[in-house]
Amino acid sequence: VYIQPKVNMETGAIIGGEALIRWRHPELGMISPMDFIPVIEKDGFIINVDVYVWNEAFKMLGRRQAAGKKVVPISVNISRLHAHQDDMVKCIRGMGIEHGVSPDLVGLEVTESGFSNNTTVLFERMQQLRDFGFSVHMDDFGKGHSTLTMLKNEPVDVIKLDRDFLRQIENAKNQVVVRNTVGMLNALDVHVIAEGVETQEQADFLIQCGCYDAQGFYYYRPMPMEEF
Ligand code: C2E
Ligand code: CA
Ligand code: CA
Repeated sequence: VYIQPKVNMETGAIIGGEALIRWRHPELGMISPMDFIPVIEKDGFIINVDVYVWNEAFKMLGRRQAAGKKVVPISVNISRLHAHQDDMVKCIRGMGIEHGVSPDLVGLEVTESGFSNNTTVLFERMQQLRDFGFSVHMDDFGKGHSTLTMLKNEPVDVIKLDRDFLRQIENAKNQVVVRNTVGMLNALDVHVIAEGVETQEQADFLIQCGCYDAQGFYYYRPMPMEEF
């Protein structure tokens, strides 16, 4: 499990991290999750992988909390398949209790597309997790699955702007889209974080728009958990 830091772009402070799976293959070397996750999503094995990653993240947080060391919130991914499983809430809550982790240290990332089917049950599930104190993050926002009207009642604390928003940010029309999207989300009182910040120019523009937090190669790449 690797962790990519999330930073406050104004101060450079690390405000959290995201746990991301890696596969170190004996012959093929490091295999990207983009290559193997679509495969294990088909046969459902992704559920085992998610649980493994959650457990590693909770274990690390619990160990540091118990030792009185500095902790920042870590978010984990919940695959779309998993988000629709009945026992998902129990599983996450149970892990928090087992490892003695305060729920406010754990973010749960569900992709925008995960939110868009079977909405009612999923909304209830996410709301339950929020009631327990976990925060819910909508991942890959803007990739084109949710409708803007859904935003009014979506049970999310954080929205992660998809990396696509930052492509060709020097283009005037793209700037209008980013500025107004960030403005709308701020007005709706959801925390916005930009994904895939790779340049100083992108960072400067986002700050101008009112988006202060980011996750991107310009700051840090995902790194082994110990290094984080
Ligand atoms: P994601 O959840 O959107 O995670 C962010 C991805 O963007 C990571 O790719 C990260 O390395 C990459 N990234 C971050 N900053 C930059 C940047 O500045 N430029 C570029 N080009 N890329 C950046 P990664 O680690 O390859 O993961 C890809 C996807 O695989 C993740 O996208 C997520 O959907 C999935 N994934 C990874 N780990 C897990 C897991 O444990 N469970 C589940 N269900 N999905 C996972
Ligand atoms: Ca994610
Ligand atoms: Ca994402």
